[in-house]
Amino acid sequence: MTVFDHPDFDRHEQVVFHHDPSSGLRALIAIHSTRLGPSLGGCRMFPYVDEAAALTDVLRLSRGMSFKAALAGLPQGGGKSVILGDPRRDKSPALLRAMGRGIERLGGAYVVAEDSGTNVADIEVMSGVTRHVSGLTDAQTRATGRTGDPSPATAYGTLVAIRTAVRFAFGRDDLEGVRVAIQGVGNVGYRLAALLHAEGARLWVADTHSPAVDRCVRAFGAVAVPVSAIHAQAVEVFAPCALGGVVNDHTLPQLQARVVAGAANNQLARPDHDSALQARGVLYAPDYVVNAGGIIDIHHQRTGYDAAAVRAHLDRIGDTLSDIFTTAAVRGRATGAVADALAEAVFRP
Ligand code: NAD
Repeated sequence: MTVFDHPDFDRHEQVVFHHDPSSGLRALIAIHSTRLGPSLGGCRMFPYVDEAAALTDVLRLSRGMSFKAALAGLPQGGGKSVILGDPRRDKSPALLRAMGRGIERLGGAYVVAEDSGTNVADIEVMSGVTRHVSGLTDAQTRATGRTGDPSPATAYGTLVAIRTAVRFAFGRDDLEGVRVAIQGVGNVGYRLAALLHAEGARLWVADTHSPAVDRCVRAFGAVAVPVSAIHAQAVEVFAPCALGGVVNDHTLPQLQARVVAGAANNQLARPDHDSALQARGVLYAPDYVVNAGGIIDIHHQRTGYDAAAVRAHLDRIGDTLSDIFTTAAVRGRATGAVADALAEAVFRP
C-alpha cells in the first residue's frame, strides 16, 4: 500500500493513521486542502476489507470535499475521516473519544461531522474531547426547532439545481407537469419529492425499502417503480438520491431523461461518464454542486444560523450551475470537467 504514489493522493496536505489499542480504534484522517480554511468532512465508520480500501475511500472523499466547499463559496477546505470497523458491533464511547482525541491533536485543521456509520450522538461524544466538531444539535438549533440534520437543506439545494437544469435544458421557468424519477426516497429524496410535488412535478420513485416508496405514493401520488428500472423511466429528470456509481456502462444507454440532477455523492461510476452523458445530449448537474446544501447548512450552524441567509446561500447553487452549464455549452465541454476546473481555480490558484 502506497500513500504518496496512491492514484487518489492528489497532493493531500496530511494523511494521519490513528490507533488507540485500548478501545480498538483504527482510523484514517485525510486533509486534502486547508487553503480556504479548516478542512471539514464527515467521519465514516465502515467494515473495510482492508486498510488499502479505507485509504482509497478517505482520499477520494476528502478530495471531493475540497471541490464541494470551493464551489459552494465556503471558507473551508476538504477533509474526511474513516474508522475501520462495523458501526453496529465495534462502536463504543471509548472508541469515539479516542477518535475525538486524534482530531483534537490536529489543532483544528480538520473539523469532523457525521457521515454514514456515525450520527449526531457520536459526534456529541467526540465533542467531550475536541472542539473541532460540527453538525451538533446545540442550544441555538434547538431553540429554532431545528435538529441539526442537514437533509432539508440538501433537498432544497437539489430542488434549486433541478429548476436550473430544467430551465437550461427545456427553457422552462416552472416545474408544473415536469416528470422526475427519484432513486432513493430517504432523508433527502423524500423531502425532495415533497418540494417537487408542491411545484406541480409528477413523480416516479424507487427505493429498496418499500415503506419509503409507499409513503411517496400516498402523499404525492408518485408512481412506484422497481429499483432496477428507475433510471430508465420516460421522464425529463433523473434524480439519483441513494448511492454512488449509478451512471455507469449499464445504465447510461438506458437513460431517457435529458437531465441528471440528484443529491447522491459520486454518481458517475467513472470520470469519462461525464463526457459520455454529454455525447448522449444529457445535461448532467455535477453532484457535488447539487448536494452542497448539507455543508452550506453545517457552515451556517457553526457561524450563527440565519434562515434567510441560508436560503440565499442555497439559491446560489442555481447561479453556480447556470455558469457551469453556460460555460460547458459555449466551450463544448462536459459539465463535470467544467465544474472541476472552476473549483480548482478557487482552491488551487
Ligand atoms: P438515506 O440513507 O436517508 O436515504 C437513502 C435511501 O436510498 C434509503 O431510503 C435507501 O433505502 C435507499 N436505497 C439504497 N439503495 C438503493 C437502491 N439501490 N435503489 C433505490 N434506493 C436505494 O440517505 P440520505 O441522507 O437521504 O442521502 C442520500 C444520498 O445523498 C447519499 O448518497 C448521500 O451521500 C447524499 N448526500 C446526503 C446529504 C444529506 O444532507 N443527508 C448531503 C450530501 C449528500
